Amino acid sequence: MSVMEGKIGLVVGVANNRSIAYGIAKACKREGAEVILTYQNDKLKPRVEKVANELGVKHIYPLDVSKEEELIALRENIEKDYGKIDFLVHSVAFAPREALDGKFIDTKKEAFNTAMEISVYSLIELVQKLEPIMNDGASILTLTYLGSTRYIPHYNVMGVAKAALEASVRYLAVDLGERKIRINALSAGPIKTLAASGIGDFSEILKYNEKNSPLMKNVTIDEVGNSGMYLLSDLSSGVTGEVHFVDSGYNIMGMPRYDK
Ligand code: NAD
Repeated sequence: MSVMEGKIGLVVGVANNRSIAYGIAKACKREGAEVILTYQNDKLKPRVEKVANELGVKHIYPLDVSKEEELIALRENIEKDYGKIDFLVHSVAFAPREALDGKFIDTKKEAFNTAMEISVYSLIELVQKLEPIMNDGASILTLTYLGSTRYIPHYNVMGVAKAALEASVRYLAVDLGERKIRINALSAGPIKTLAASGIGDFSEILKYNEKNSPLMKNVTIDEVGNSGMYLLSDLSSGVTGEVHFVDSGYNIMGMPRYDK
C-alpha cells in the first residue's frame, strides 16, 4: 500500500509548477493521497488550474490568506466536498519588494507588518480555522528558510518572519498535540521560484549554496516534495515541532570547504 493512501490534504501555496507546494502536492498524489489546492487570486487561477489538471486534483478554491471570509468559505467548502482532512501544507510568504533589497535597518513598519501577517499569522489563522475539520493524528507542514537564524543577504524582514514562523510551529505543536495533530517546518535550500525572484541577488545565493553545501548542488522541488510528504505521512508520527532541513546539508557548514 502507498504511504498516503486514504489521506486527504489541503495544499496552500501553489502558484505554478515551479512552486515548492507543487513538489509536495505531486509527491503526496504519487503516494496515493487526495489533494485539494487553493489559488491566491484570479491572475494565478489559470496556472493553478493547469497544475490541478496535471495532478488530477478535483477541487481548487480561492484563498487570499489576508481575507478571513475566504478562510471561512474554504473550511465550509472542504467540509461539504470532503468532510475532514488529514494534512495541511502552508507554503505562503510575502514581503514588499523594497524590504527585500538594501539594508534591514531601513525596514518600514508597514512592510514589517505585511510580512508578519502574510508569512506568519496566516499559519496560525489557517490552523485555527481548519482544526475543527482535521482528523486526530493529522499533520501540518510549513516552509521556512535558514535566514531565520543566520544572516542571508537581502532576506531582511523575511528572516525575522521565518524566525517567528518557526517559533509559532513550536507553540502550535504543544496545543495541537492534545489531538495528536503534528506540525513541523521544512527548511528548504534556495530554489528558483516566483517568490524567490523578489529577493535581491538570488542567483548569487543559489551559486554560493551550490558551491558550499556538502552535496555541492542545490535542492529540487522534487527533493523537498519527498521530504515534505514524509513529514505529512504517518512515517513521521513521532516528529512534531521540528525544523527539518532539506538543503543539501548547507546549514551544517561552519566555513567553506577547505581545498588544499
Ligand atoms: P511561490 O511563489 O511558488 O509560492 C509562494 C506562494 O505564496 C504563492 O503560491 C502565492 O500565491 C502565495 N501567497 C503569497 N501571498 C499570499 C496571500 N496573501 N494569500 C494566499 N497565498 C499567498 O514560491 P516558493 O518559493 O514555492 O514559496 C513557498 C514557501 O517556501 C514560502 O514560505 C517561502 O518562503 C518558502 N521557501 C522558499 C525557498 C526558495 O528558495 N524558493 C526556500 C525556503 C523556503
